[in-house]
Amino acid sequence: MKRVAKKRNDAPHRSGFCAIIGRPNVGKSTLLNRVLGEKLSIVSPKPQTTRNRVLGVLTRPDLQVAFLDTPGIHRARGGLNRFMVEQALGALPEVDCVLYLIEPGIVRDPAVPSGIRVEIGEVNQFIVEKLRESGKPVVLGINKIDTVPKHELLPVIEAWKDALPFAAIFPFSALHGDGIDQLVDLVGEQLPEGPPLFPPDVYTDVAERFLVSEYVREQILRSTRQEVPYSTAVAVESFDESEREREGRGLVRIFARIYVERDSQKAIIIGRRGEMLKKIGTAARLEIEKLLGCKVFLSLEVTVEPRWSEREDALRRLGYSS
Ligand code: GDP
Ligand code: MG
Repeated sequence: MKRVAKKRNDAPHRSGFCAIIGRPNVGKSTLLNRVLGEKLSIVSPKPQTTRNRVLGVLTRPDLQVAFLDTPGIHRARGGLNRFMVEQALGALPEVDCVLYLIEPGIVRDPAVPSGIRVEIGEVNQFIVEKLRESGKPVVLGINKIDTVPKHELLPVIEAWKDALPFAAIFPFSALHGDGIDQLVDLVGEQLPEGPPLFPPDVYTDVAERFLVSEYVREQILRSTRQEVPYSTAVAVESFDESEREREGRGLVRIFARIYVERDSQKAIIIGRRGEMLKKIGTAARLEIEKLLGCKVFLSLEVTVEPRWSEREDALRRLGYSS
């Protein structure tokens, strides 16, 4: 286990996907905004969008990390909210590593000799189990260290260090910007060697397109539940930008293609007399309008493409690349 990032001058370029996972309010969005700065502001304009997976891409000379900001995992009254958890953890197979955020969780307790107890909690235990099953390298980020005295950090690390064979454990503060670079270094070390996956200058466009495709995809999953698998892909094929550049932000025309693997899935998504597709399109459009802050004309088409997911250009088709 490493706690300090080591930098080698001859280090190869690394790139890949990292999921940010953690309970609501641990500081996932704050961290992502810190890491990506203004580049992200376009992808997280409103709190309600955080139930979507948000992509932000950090590009450094030595490193490119595409972050997925997963929704918070919580326990609903009737047990775990399956949909939320699946959305949050559904990203796991796609990522190269996980950045798992927690808070110190210190509870004052006069009954113990040290006077403090570290609480891991039921939800975190559930997350840990899922992370163990995923087999992905996990960096544990202990956020909000500004809220506890320094000497109380060691008990927190002690309480957590055996929960999983973490790739690293690192205390930081997203709000105050303490330790952010080192945390990113630790994430970078978990990624495979390779060239950048995205051009360095298109992140906002990529993020918008990605979000649009995610909004459509989320509506498909919400509307069709188990009937349509997670392998469904949505590619934004055209995104009328010129309109947006004008003052007053007129209308954005977006054309997106939904890829499914079988005719039966296509039939489900289109629905009787196109009603399902209309419902999906309307719900997605309302979300996209909130994101972009303007009126949207959203046109959807469903295409059957067996085994699309194995294609080499899957990334491109998913709208990850322009
Ligand atoms: P998310 O639900 O995981 O995305 O959490 P947010 O990023 O929305 O943060 C939840 C709250 O925690 C906000 O009020 C943040 O300002 C606060 N917060 C985030 N990071 C820190 C930190 O390092 N220290 C403190 N004191 N508060 C933080
Ligand atoms: Mg958030």
